[in-house]
Amino acid sequence: MVKDSKFYDLLGVSATASETELKKAYRKAALKYHPDKNPSPEAAEKFKDISRAYEVLSDDQKRDIYDQYGEEGLSGAGGPGGMGGMGAEDIFSQFFGGGFGGMGGQQRGPAKGKDIKHSISCTLEELYKGRNAKLALNKTILCKTCEGRGGKEGKIKQCSSCHGQGMKFVTRQMGPMIQRFQTVCDVCQGTGDICDAKDRCTTCKGKKTQSERKILQVSIDPGMKDGQRIVFSGEGDQEPNVTPGDVIFVVDEKPHEKFTRKGNDLYYEAEIDLLTALAGGDVGFPSVSGDFVQFSILPGEVIAPGTTKVIENQGMPIYRHGGRGNLFIKFNVKFPKNNFTDEETLKKLEDILPPRNKLVVPKGAEVDECDLVDVDPYKHQSAGRRDAYDSEEEDGQGGPGVQCQSQ
Ligand SMILES: [Zn+2]
Ligand SMILES: [Zn+2]
Repeated sequence: MVKDSKFYDLLGVSATASETELKKAYRKAALKYHPDKNPSPEAAEKFKDISRAYEVLSDDQKRDIYDQYGEEGLSGAGGPGGMGGMGAEDIFSQFFGGGFGGMGGQQRGPAKGKDIKHSISCTLEELYKGRNAKLALNKTILCKTCEGRGGKEGKIKQCSSCHGQGMKFVTRQMGPMIQRFQTVCDVCQGTGDICDAKDRCTTCKGKKTQSERKILQVSIDPGMKDGQRIVFSGEGDQEPNVTPGDVIFVVDEKPHEKFTRKGNDLYYEAEIDLLTALAGGDVGFPSVSGDFVQFSILPGEVIAPGTTKVIENQGMPIYRHGGRGNLFIKFNVKFPKNNFTDEETLKKLEDILPPRNKLVVPKGAEVDECDLVDVDPYKHQSAGRRDAYDSEEEDGQGGPGVQCQSQ
């Protein structure tokens, strides 16, 4: 039996409640009566009481004393209890973690403003050669008239409701999550200070900031890659008592029509004719460097379709390092379009090329003698679609749909 059940009653738990039950009960009650959530004076009182109850019951030693002697046991001069400087808000912050800390005060040193990110679109050619870009930026700066004070020097008082933050915290429970978010202070309308109308800065009307257009010189260096960041430290928006964040440009490499980049290497697909593939010849194409890349396929080398070769040091420049990556070339072989119908040419080919593969029919196989014809897009491919239409829809005709698709 406990001497006094008041603390247990406040949290709505039994005297045998486990640590988990206590935590759960405190969480529920604290969120209900927290001053941000419930501004009435009775709630504030209740919030203090439940915090005190939780502080005691969550501490094994204090809970023992409380169970044995009641509240007096804790508050006595010789008692090991007492609030020990722990305010209700401290208990709340401790319980919900540092991130939910009390108003203001939780940040050490000046806060850092948000970084501003911009993507900067670059072609592969630009990333090869490098480029200088001038980019205009609309940014917020401290008001030049009042130097970010919002009014005449010495005539401004900090708003006590929000401790000059201009924002207040509101705590809300959303399902199992506790969300603590900011809302504009209604006392100072978000300015964070109180000032007579006559002393207000007329330029910024107490906002302390103004906007400015700024030109930044962005230098894209040869060899920069997609996703690479160019940082302008401290060029972010200015706000009173905040260290401005950075302006960050992120390289966005546009896909190239002909070349693919992997790291410092470039990949290219070259189409060569059958004669060049078999008997050699000269091949060339414009590179991203602007130069014309030329090379020879040696007579008798024989390039099979899909073969990949490499030209060393013809890839992208290596960023701030010197040197270049490699250029990989995959060969597609273009076969002649004409039909070799004359006997003489066919005979020549037979003489030159390796003999045909001999057809081997598996023993005992039943052979279907078939005819090979050209693919007719209407006759062959649309037929399949027509079947699909028939099976999916009641309408067995399928005509109009098929016609549409073949146009
Ligand atoms: Zn101003
Ligand atoms: Zn305020």
